[in-house]
Amino acid sequence: MATEKMEFQTEVRDLLNLMIHSLYSNKEIFLRELVSNAADALDKRRFLSLSESSLLPAGTELRIDISVNQEGKFITIEDNGIGMNREDLISHLGTIARSGTKNFLKDLKESDKSGVDLIGQFGVGFYSSFMVAHKVEVHTLKAGETQGHLWTSEGNGEFEITEAPKQNPGTKITLYLKDEEDVSEFASEWQVKSIVQKYSEFVSYGIYLHPEPAKNEKGELEAKEAERLNKKQALWRQPEKEITEEQYKEFFQVVSHEGSEPAAWNHTHAEGSQEFWSLVYIPSKAPFNIWHNERAHGLKLYVKKVFIMDDCKELLPTWLRFVRGVVDSEDLPLNVSREILQSNKLITHIRKHVTKKVLDSLANMAEKESEKYLAWWKELGMILKEGFYMNWEHLDELKKLLRFESSRTEKDSYMSLTEYVARMPESQKEIYYLIGENKEAVAHSPLLEVFQAKGYEVLFMTDTIDEFMMGSLNEFEGKTFRDISRGDVEFEKNDEEKKAEEESKTSFKGLCEYLQKSLDASIKEVRITTRLKDSPCCLVTGEDAMSSRMERMMEAMGHGKAEKSKRILEINPAHPICVMLKEKLEKSGDLGDWSKALYGGALLSEGQPLPNPAEYVQAINHLLTAAAK
Ligand code: ADP
Repeated sequence: MATEKMEFQTEVRDLLNLMIHSLYSNKEIFLRELVSNAADALDKRRFLSLSESSLLPAGTELRIDISVNQEGKFITIEDNGIGMNREDLISHLGTIARSGTKNFLKDLKESDKSGVDLIGQFGVGFYSSFMVAHKVEVHTLKAGETQGHLWTSEGNGEFEITEAPKQNPGTKITLYLKDEEDVSEFASEWQVKSIVQKYSEFVSYGIYLHPEPAKNEKGELEAKEAERLNKKQALWRQPEKEITEEQYKEFFQVVSHEGSEPAAWNHTHAEGSQEFWSLVYIPSKAPFNIWHNERAHGLKLYVKKVFIMDDCKELLPTWLRFVRGVVDSEDLPLNVSREILQSNKLITHIRKHVTKKVLDSLANMAEKESEKYLAWWKELGMILKEGFYMNWEHLDELKKLLRFESSRTEKDSYMSLTEYVARMPESQKEIYYLIGENKEAVAHSPLLEVFQAKGYEVLFMTDTIDEFMMGSLNEFEGKTFRDISRGDVEFEKNDEEKKAEEESKTSFKGLCEYLQKSLDASIKEVRITTRLKDSPCCLVTGEDAMSSRMERMMEAMGHGKAEKSKRILEINPAHPICVMLKEKLEKSGDLGDWSKALYGGALLSEGQPLPNPAEYVQAINHLLTAAAK
């Protein structure tokens, strides 16, 4: 057969033009595309041989062989897959069948955008060879046929096909690299090795690199042994029951680069409208850099076992960014870009699925291995709390995963909201919590006194995020949450108690007014309280005011100095100090340093910094000196 010259379909011409002239920087993907075409061809040959065994003689290793020639500046990628005959070559490598690519080209013509921006958005496949090669040869024999063919093109609108004997089925593609500097490097062994290991590490078939023959001592060229580049198995594609616990743990090291063991994992193969595999791990230790959310996502995205990207943020919400693992889709295009991921339905579906699996795994661990879960909670629970912020979808699952210390738990032991509700006394209607600087400060807060006396448990919230979290945590099992440092916590009182309170209000009116006047710059209101037992006074925040901790946090986050909202000073009419001050005031009309001492003490007892420590110490010293006289 004489050489046949043919023209590419118009769309292919446009595409090639784009490939050849584009400045697209990620040129190395040509190798990823060719290797995955080769793997597809191997799949096809294996599949067809199931019904026609002569297509694959026993003992044949299906494989991909790559060799480079630095001097000649060419690279070959060879597979012993299904191969192509003349018709295949014309239809597969002369036209574009995929409607997606056709539409893309149409859009490209109509838009002002340059191809550079758009290349990353669609599957470029075989034609990406022309980004790096000035000439491409495809030498191929279709399995089950006898006549081989050679397809050649310089990417300039035409291709040629000629008969060319080939002994074994499969396809050998030779790329003659352009002279450009960034391109000729692709004919080097280390480049090929690093690109294959980056994208094609988990391809099912062996990918071998044949080093260039080197001269031996006698000056003769000597072939060296080929090296297999991909040695790892795509564990996620194997059936769960065939994988041992050890293998799962080992694979965690591969995907996480952590020295620690995973706390739990979930392995799923989803079939149906779309097919994908996910193998996701919950680490037991906080991964490096996890607190800087932008960089710390840990899911790798694969398409048909070919690596697409690390840290794929679109696959999980930020508050699950500690998860490590792999998602492998059978249906996404290889060239899927970040832009596409953000609005892709398949991705939304996978994200939903993976999120649910991770939450299920956590719930399962919490239920069946509570100690392990607690250890995990202490390490990473803080990130989960971010889930209460900007998320309405998974609140119920998240609430059950929360753990807190409380006024009744031992140091370092934690409880769930379910446990809290279960041990609420009948008379208790709400879930009480106290936000504070640290465990020590909240555990000794005067605000707890009345709750302890009544046997009501109070949850301690000492993580920076807690106050934000409580903004979305309104109820649990029908019980509302109540911040005990805010507003006036009212318990039911009997007539006697009501009467006593009214009396105190009248008799302590003078003291309240005096304190209010002398502390006016810092205090919004001074009032009598029944919430204290052993302390003379405490500070509470108005129902709608921003807490002082939140004010400081906003300031630290660069929101400027907010105008401080003044707090309420509550005094305990049953406390000897308050009784003594009331009498002193009635006698002398002046309390000297006492206002400062009371206010400073109230701030200190909740772990707050004093606005003027020296002034406070001076006030205390005056009072002590007077007492010693
Ligand atoms: P895609 O792989 O997305 O279909 P390509 O442009 O990369 O698009 O390839 C077009 C077609 O050419 C493939 O669908 C396949 O039929 C054929 N082809 C490409 N490479 C090979 C190969 N190594 N062996 C057999 N067929 C191939």
